[in-house]
Amino acid sequence: MSPPIDLGLPLVPPEPVAECGVCAVLAEQRVGELRAGDFSRATDRSVEIRRHDAGHGGG
Ligand SMILES: [Zn+2]
Repeated sequence: MSPPIDLGLPLVPPEPVAECGVCAVLAEQRVGELRAGDFSRATDRSVEIRRHDAGHGGG
């Protein structure tokens, strides 16, 4: 078990949609990248979450 991380991100991460599997995967990858100190990739991941977000509104 790992403790939750609080890195005080300079960016506002998009909220992953709870019911969306893609959000879950991307958010998980982002956590791993943050832990690795790879902020550049984590930012890209945030962008991915935001972009694919367009598919959420349709229902
Ligand atoms: Zn999603």
